[in-house]
Amino acid sequence: MSDGASHDRHLIIGAGPIGLATAAALKRRGITFDIVDAATGIGGNWLHGVYRTAHIVSSKKATEYSDYPMPADYPDFPSADQMLAYLQSFAKDRDLLRHCEFNKEVRLAAPDDAGRWIVKFADGEERIYKGVVVCNGHHWDKRYPEFRGTFTGDMLHSKDYREPSQFEGKRVLVIGGGNSGVDMACDAGRFGKSCDISLKSGYWYMPKTFLGRPLTDIPLWGLPIFVQRAIIKLMIRLSIGDYRRYGLQRPNHKMFERHPAFGTDLLNSIRLGCVKPRPAIDHVDEKTVTFVDGSTATYDLIVAATGFHTSFPFLPDGLVKIENGIVQVYGGAFPPGVRGLYIVGWAQARNGFGRLITPLADLYARLIALQDELEFPLGSVMEQSFTQRLPTTHLVDPEKARREIRIAHWILPLLKARDRRMARKQKLTAEKTSVPIRA
Ligand SMILES: Cc1cc2nc3c(=O)[nH]c(=O)nc-3n(C[C@H](O)[C@H](O)[C@H](O)COP(=O)(O)OP(=O)(O)OC[C@H]3O[C@@H](n4cnc5c(N)ncnc54)[C@H](O)[C@@H]3O)c2cc1C
Repeated sequence: MSDGASHDRHLIIGAGPIGLATAAALKRRGITFDIVDAATGIGGNWLHGVYRTAHIVSSKKATEYSDYPMPADYPDFPSADQMLAYLQSFAKDRDLLRHCEFNKEVRLAAPDDAGRWIVKFADGEERIYKGVVVCNGHHWDKRYPEFRGTFTGDMLHSKDYREPSQFEGKRVLVIGGGNSGVDMACDAGRFGKSCDISLKSGYWYMPKTFLGRPLTDIPLWGLPIFVQRAIIKLMIRLSIGDYRRYGLQRPNHKMFERHPAFGTDLLNSIRLGCVKPRPAIDHVDEKTVTFVDGSTATYDLIVAATGFHTSFPFLPDGLVKIENGIVQVYGGAFPPGVRGLYIVGWAQARNGFGRLITPLADLYARLIALQDELEFPLGSVMEQSFTQRLPTTHLVDPEKARREIRIAHWILPLLKARDRRMARKQKLTAEKTSVPIRA
């Protein structure tokens, strides 16, 4: 716990899966920290952000921390409650709870002129930290659909869906067919009066299991992406067939260019007649929705399963750039020009966070320790390095990222060398500009 002056400590914002993994890695490297979370306990989304019927879509093997297996009696796709219990057990095992404070919302985190971080909390407290590790998650800042007209029924964002009773007796329209949209459409189809799902374009719905194993556990993900695509397309052809047979559109994007939807529950619900697919919305008139194919239907409730914005409302404007949801940081976490700020977990791992976050958090802990030895912010040093680029997508291929992490450990000394070179250059420039000009 902090006493208000924590100049030697880092602050981790968020005690979700990513904040916890990062804390464990910092602890292993002897870096001191506090963790705060606005919620009442640890677990992030798995405590307060998912519905009662949620199960992970990535398998337990793909989602567990690679150094902390889930219990052997867990199913392949654990429930939200099991996820929460697992995270609580991880926090206990790694002795993280004594570093945590709950109901502690960060309202502002900003660097001062001395390079320290001033952190202000919703309860009015103010503290100083050496650095800030942002693990605030990317599934909370709700994105709503835009359409012509006004819907006069109820509107629910997927984030606010808790349990099927919310659908009882209602004619439901779900907008969006990603993993959450599919779950909600299936629940509404079963427990509501009726359920339609409106999709602007086609999704790649993949079987959750193949040959009796979770798809995310099949030794496929290390192969070149075009081979992965070819194999999964074959699986889809054999087990699902053409999406148009279900009244769905064919995807208009390459597989993995958008976050994939694991599972065929929607396809089954369509076959059962519980869910009816619809195309994009053209316009809305009170409770009546007209779709782009000219069809109309009346609804009591629209569920906006239309995703989230990525945002860091507690950081000063412009400190970290976000372009189309892609955070402009080097190495996945390091903004150029800002010392002591690390943005972790804003990207979406394709097959579950587990296999990636353990090695990644360890690398970040090494880098955060390295920052003490550098003259310049890590992000600025990386910006000058020819091996580093800004990201162009928020989707991460975990196997590729793991390979890059292994390489990154080897090239860490190069960052030190680059930093020294930058410092020499700066000194030379300063000397040149301070040389008095002779008449
Ligand atoms: C329905 C659903 C199903 C999902 N299924 C899967 C799956 O199958 N596999 C998978 O890998 N991922 C899945 N996810 C993604 C999920 O977001 C991740 O599993 C994981 O929760 C991300 O961890 P995180 O720590 O980055 O963020 P979060 O879990 O969102 O935790 C962030 C924490 O930061 C806290 N916080 C935010 N702002 C502040 C602030 N200003 N001050 C203090 N605290 C703050 C929040 O209270 C929160 O507790 C799913 C998500 C949803 C919504």
